[in-house]
Amino acid sequence: MDDELLLRYSRQILLPEVDINGQNKLARSHVVIMGLGGLGSPIAMYLAAAGVGQITLVDHDVVELSNLQRQIIHSTEDLGRKKVKSAGNQIHSLNPNTKVNLVNEKLDESGFDSLFPNVDAIVDATDNFESRFQINHFSVKHSIPLISGAAIRFEGQVSVFQAIKGVSPCYRCLYSDGINIIENCVDTGVISPLLGIIGSIQALEVLKILMGIGEALDGRLLLLDALTMEWQTMKFQKDPKCPECG
Ligand SMILES: [Zn+2]
Repeated sequence: MDDELLLRYSRQILLPEVDINGQNKLARSHVVIMGLGGLGSPIAMYLAAAGVGQITLVDHDVVELSNLQRQIIHSTEDLGRKKVKSAGNQIHSLNPNTKVNLVNEKLDESGFDSLFPNVDAIVDATDNFESRFQINHFSVKHSIPLISGAAIRFEGQVSVFQAIKGVSPCYRCLYSDGINIIENCVDTGVISPLLGIIGSIQALEVLKILMGIGEALDGRLLLLDALTMEWQTMKFQKDPKCPECG
């Protein structure tokens, strides 16, 4: 690592849990972010700023005016641009050391299968259950840790799924018939900074997993009620009858 990189990441390298070793692990890591909306915005920016070496951005939407209230990686001048392009530009100006791959399409089975073999972590920042179950399926299939977050109204939640370990539950263990538990986020209101809070926690969990430090949030669902600012942690188990990982 040259002097410029040492200076760029100095406040992180100062942490004994990180040190040069951890920073080098981040530089060698590849993270896929599914969705460049309200959650994907802070996730992508923090992962790039922190020094993750390679980030693949997956989103097939363009930037719309109603996105800008919360999707802070995009600017007014990006209106009408592809979200992956807009986000890629922002990441490059934040940290040119991060290699960015852009995937501007809705991935099908072969798309996921060709993308995933060389990935260290996948972040679910999508806003609907169809995508969430699909991402979980490929995370289990390819043994990649999944860092999942959701935010609607004033309510947020985060969890980590490392079903690869055999003992940890997957997303489907938690939401076997989940469609009824939480509504899709697409047409529901959401307060702007909530996306920053939940997305930042997802980014932090990714960094911990990449460096192998601390305890990941797997088997635990962290819930926030932002109106009362009450946090809850709900523990859950692997479902032996889970159609995905059981
Ligand atoms: Zn499962």
